[in-house]
Amino acid sequence: MTYIEKIKDELVKRNGADKEFIQAADEVLDSLEKVIEKHPEYQDAGILERLIEPERQIMFRVPWVNDQGEVKVNRGFRVQYNSAIGPYKGGLRFHPSVNLSIIKFLGFEQIFKNSLTGLPMGGGKGGSDFDPKGKSEHEVMRFCQSFMTELYRHIGPNVDVPAGDIGVGAREVGYLYGQYKRLANEFTGTMTGKGLTWGGSLTRKEATGYGLCYFTDAMLKDHNSSFENKQVVISGSGNVAIYAAEKATQLGAKVIAMSDSRGFIHDPNGIDLKAVKDIKEIKRGRIKDYLNDHDHAEYTEGAKGIWSLPCDIALPCATQNELDASAAQALLKNGVIAVAEGANMPCTPEAIACFQKQGILYAPGKASNAGGVACSGLEMSQNSLRLSWTNEEVDQRLKDIMERIYHNVHDTAKQYGMAENYVAGANIAGFLKVAQAMMEQGV
Ligand code: GLU
Repeated sequence: MTYIEKIKDELVKRNGADKEFIQAADEVLDSLEKVIEKHPEYQDAGILERLIEPERQIMFRVPWVNDQGEVKVNRGFRVQYNSAIGPYKGGLRFHPSVNLSIIKFLGFEQIFKNSLTGLPMGGGKGGSDFDPKGKSEHEVMRFCQSFMTELYRHIGPNVDVPAGDIGVGAREVGYLYGQYKRLANEFTGTMTGKGLTWGGSLTRKEATGYGLCYFTDAMLKDHNSSFENKQVVISGSGNVAIYAAEKATQLGAKVIAMSDSRGFIHDPNGIDLKAVKDIKEIKRGRIKDYLNDHDHAEYTEGAKGIWSLPCDIALPCATQNELDASAAQALLKNGVIAVAEGANMPCTPEAIACFQKQGILYAPGKASNAGGVACSGLEMSQNSLRLSWTNEEVDQRLKDIMERIYHNVHDTAKQYGMAENYVAGANIAGFLKVAQAMMEQGV
C-alpha cells in the first residue's frame, strides 16, 4: 500500500458517510503522488494526515420564529479548515441540502483555491440547511440574526472572514453583518460581499463570473482560441452564472442557455441578460418566467438537459455534481472545446475523466472560480487600509490574478509531467504553498 493509499484509507475510516468530502479529498490526494515523491519531508511531517482533518468544526442550533409565530430550528455549520497561510476565509451556504459533508468538501476546496489566488487567506466554509426560498424578508432577517448570534464568537477580521455562497447574497450578508456588528461592537472587515456604502468592494458582485471568463479566456488564448463568436451554455442563474454570461458576451460570445434547479431556457438569439437579472436579482423568480417576454425561447423541465444543447464552451455554474458522465458524453458529441467550472465541483469524477480522455480543455473550479474569493481578499485589503479602490482598479487586479492562476496551474502541471492536466496543476500548485507554510510553522 502506498502512502497516498494509506491516507485515502484513513480518510474513509474517519469520514465514511461524507461522500462529497471524500470525493474532493480523493481528487487532491490522487494529484499529490509525485509531490510526495519529490518532497519526502512532507510525509515525515504528516502533512497529508493533518490536511484531511479540519482544524476546527463548529455545529450549532439556529432557532427562529416564522411569520405564523411557530418556532423553527435549523442546523448551522462553520468548518475552519486550514489557517496555514492566513485567516480562515470562505462563504456561507444556505440550502436545504447542506450537511457536514458538503461544508467540509467546500472548506477543503477553499484551502487550495485561496492559496492559488496568491493572497493570504486560509480555508473555511459554513452554512445552514435553511432555505431562504419562499421565506419572507422578516423570516430571512430573523434567521440570519439567530445564525450570527452563535457564529459571531468564532469569527473576526484576523480569525475567520465569511462571505456569501448559494442562498447567501447581498441581502443575507447585510443582515448577518448587522447582527455581527451589534454583538461584537466593532466595525471591521469581518465579512466580505458587504454593501458598497458600508465597506464592500466594487466588482465583488461580478467577480466570480468575470473571473471565470478571465481564466477561460487565458486558457483559450493559450490554445489559439477565444470567446469570439462561440456558443456558450451556462448552467445556473445565480450570481456566478449571471456575471459569467455578462463577461462572456462582452468577450464576443453568444450565451444561448441558462437554468435553475427546475429547468432551463434556450434562447437561440442569445440570452437577454437584463431580463434574467430582473427575474433573479429583483423578483427572486424562476428562470421559466423568461418566457413571459421572450416567446421565441424554449423552456425545458429538468436542469440536466441543458448539457444536450450544442455549444463550444460549457460553464457549469450551478452546484456540485450537476454534470455527470452522460452529460459529458452529450457535450463531447456536440463538439464542445472547453469546460470551465464556475460552481464548486460541478463535474463528477467520471465526467472529468471523459473530458481529459478526449483532450478537451477542462478547468477545475478551485482555479477557475477563484475570482470571487480573490475579490473578497481585495475587499479585506481595502477594509484594512480604510480605502476603497475604483471599479477599474479592482477589475484589473482581478484579471491579473486570474491570468496568473491560469499560468501557474498550466506551468505546474507541465513541471510535474502532466501537461494540460489542470486538475493536477491546480491541486499541486495550491497544495505546495500551504504545505510549505505548515512545515515552517511546525506540528
Ligand atoms: N463562496 C465563494 C467561493 O466558493 C466565495 C467565498 C469568499 O468570498 O470568501 O469561493
